[in-house]
Amino acid sequence: MHKNADVVVIGAGMFGSAAAKYLSRAGADIVVVGPPEPTRPAVAGLADIGAYHDESRIARCLGWDRFWGTVDTRSTARYREIEAESGVGFFRECGALAVISLSLRQHTGAMLRAGEDDGVAVERMSAADLRRTFPVLHVPPMAGGIEGLLERRNAGYLAPRQLVRAQLRLAVASGARLLRGTVTSLRRDERAGRWRVRLEPAEGGSPASVTAERVLVAAGSLVNHSRALPLPHQLDLRVFTEPNLLFEVGGDQLRQLEGLPTIVTIDPEDTGNDNHSAYLIPPVRYPDGRWYLRIGPAMQPIVHELRTAQDAHRWHARQRTTPEQAAFLTRMTRTLLPGLEPLRIREACCVVDKTPSRYPYIGHLDDRTLTVAVGGNGHGARGSDEIGRLAATTALNQPWDFPLPQQTFTPTTTAADAPPDRPDYLRPPFGLC
Ligand SMILES: Cc1cc2nc3c(=O)[nH]c(=O)nc-3n(C[C@H](O)[C@H](O)[C@H](O)COP(=O)(O)OP(=O)(O)OC[C@H]3O[C@@H](n4cnc5c(N)ncnc54)[C@H](O)[C@@H]3O)c2cc1C
Repeated sequence: MHKNADVVVIGAGMFGSAAAKYLSRAGADIVVVGPPEPTRPAVAGLADIGAYHDESRIARCLGWDRFWGTVDTRSTARYREIEAESGVGFFRECGALAVISLSLRQHTGAMLRAGEDDGVAVERMSAADLRRTFPVLHVPPMAGGIEGLLERRNAGYLAPRQLVRAQLRLAVASGARLLRGTVTSLRRDERAGRWRVRLEPAEGGSPASVTAERVLVAAGSLVNHSRALPLPHQLDLRVFTEPNLLFEVGGDQLRQLEGLPTIVTIDPEDTGNDNHSAYLIPPVRYPDGRWYLRIGPAMQPIVHELRTAQDAHRWHARQRTTPEQAAFLTRMTRTLLPGLEPLRIREACCVVDKTPSRYPYIGHLDDRTLTVAVGGNGHGARGSDEIGRLAATTALNQPWDFPLPQQTFTPTTTAADAPPDRPDYLRPPFGLC
């Protein structure tokens, strides 16, 4: 099978599906390539690993800085329209709470001012307000006390696999062709002046190819390992374990916890694994029909870097947290919800990526026909619609229309010097995941 297109999008996850929608709406002839979600994570190859294979991602408009606040606010403003146009529901508006140490009040002030500019409504709450409003919730002890920032509207969680489904449905409705398969090579045919993409179709059969004038690579955290980039490119992007515990709840407990917003705690103390930063999502119904509350860490030392393809594959295939990770997540859950009596506890292991700028890469790689959009930095889901729009604009070489300069997002390739073991983004405060 051979196809031609104006643009090939490699990766049909959160960024790729949104970009494919915007590209096809701009009138480009699009082929978007990505494997279907594997039925069992344990058998996934590296290109099958997606950060959207789940039921919940925190959604809020208040950002740790102006970039994240603006992409998240712009995307959230479009959720209901995407749901209505696609017929796929994905957003639950249960509110989002950030519990922040008072010692960060200067940063909190800057966040709130940026939020105000974007029209974000935030309720500021003391520890006593929080106890009254959410009696089941206990805030972790932080030096100097805490403040709660509650967004009741336009915040809560989204179901990432449903959002991807919605975006792909809209892309296809605008003429995009979705090829289920894995890209195995990408190279520029200099004589023809076009890109040649080879892929293994998901349903088997002989390898296929697509030639296109432009390529947008949106292959997620393992982009450096999954053959989605042309050789010898390697992005300066580091990959880490993302361990989660899922607490199954039912009965009265489910009813009590259902009223909670999503919660992120931000502790600035550099106390290693004793740092009290984490995120928690109230009970969500999973495909097995059960309800699970989910907790994950920030970037404490228990979160390990996955330096090689083998490390990433082993971590994902085992789906087992380390004893230290399980102990940390259990301790944080007991701190936040001391009354929790789960019916069962499950582990879930995925990966997150980090770029030195803490922003996604949205830009060209040495040639204006090759664009990348990767680097969600552990919180790219909620802003993925705007990130996809910016990626589509870049791929088509259209004018950049975002408040921060386009160069801020220029991809950098692997630094010659090995990065320090614990660069600043692995030090608290870790920001709003
Ligand atoms: C456990 C966890 C919790 C998170 N929590 C939050 C949260 O609360 N809020 C939030 O906003 N974000 C959150 N995130 C981050 C968010 O999910 C990611 O930032 C987002 O999914 C990134 O989108 P992406 O398109 O870059 O990658 P993905 O969504 O992973 O998509 C990449 C796609 O590319 C495909 N691909 C890779 N290689 C190839 C190839 N060779 N050929 C074809 N296709 C290929 C993959 O199969 C995948 O489908 C979380 C992530 C994890 C793992």
